[in-house]
Amino acid sequence: MLKGKTAIVTGGTRGIGLAIARKYLDNGANVAIAGSRQETVEKALAGLTEYGERVTGIWPDLCDPAAVAEAFEQVRARFGRLDILANNAGISSRTSLYDYTLDEFRKIMDVNVTAVFVCSQAAARIMKAQGGGVIINTSSMVAEYGQPSGCGYPISKFAVNGLTRSLARELAKDHIRVNAVAPGVTRTDMVSALPPELAARIAAGIPLGRVGEPEDIANAYLFLASDQADYVTGVTLRVDGAAMT
Ligand code: NAD
Repeated sequence: MLKGKTAIVTGGTRGIGLAIARKYLDNGANVAIAGSRQETVEKALAGLTEYGERVTGIWPDLCDPAAVAEAFEQVRARFGRLDILANNAGISSRTSLYDYTLDEFRKIMDVNVTAVFVCSQAAARIMKAQGGGVIINTSSMVAEYGQPSGCGYPISKFAVNGLTRSLARELAKDHIRVNAVAPGVTRTDMVSALPPELAARIAAGIPLGRVGEPEDIANAYLFLASDQADYVTGVTLRVDGAAMT
């Protein structure tokens, strides 16, 4: 479905991002995984050797416009194009408002919002010049319902939805589609860190009867990146088993 296209997947070293990178590679794309450190990127690449020269890694500071522009240009130069940006890197929080420090709040907004803005700007400049592209952001079900602690996380994901809808309207004239995927509870390190009784309670409350797998999310990312979604822009696609918590 993505033969000949090139994608950058931020937070592509593990969890949902790694599943997206694999799904894109399995569907014929060239992929650059962007991680926070060279070490973790190289470790992830060591597990992707079957894809040979079609996969590479970058590790710019995602909040540094110059570093991101340089890294994205390297990817474009290596593969000849940049068609898809998956803005997936993210961190979560469960800190109570009473204990929330400004530093922690700024950190989550940096990784979950500022980085999406910076990466989208760098990618859009390349995509506009080549005639189009697709940007897909990782939102969350919490951007529908909020959550009872760690308010920085839902705040950041509401912002991701706002960025998605605004950029979809702004960039449509440049043939750049912008969508988001809002996962429900998905089996990754982020979820493994939850207390087991909370994880079990969450799964029991999901109408489809299970938490999501990273591949469930990657499948939505594949559809939205592909030409099958040519007339889809500005949506946040929920992939959550109809969870409502
Ligand atoms: P994860 O912790 O397994 O992976 C997060 C990824 O983001 C890692 O690759 C990590 O290296 C990267 N990352 C974190 N901080 C970074 C930084 N400063 N610079 C560059 N990369 C950075 O988490 P995951 O569950 O795979 O989450 C991926 C995305 O999905 C996140 O945006 C998260 O908010 C969202 N999400 C996850 C769930 C879930 O239940 N797992 C639910 C809803 C939304």
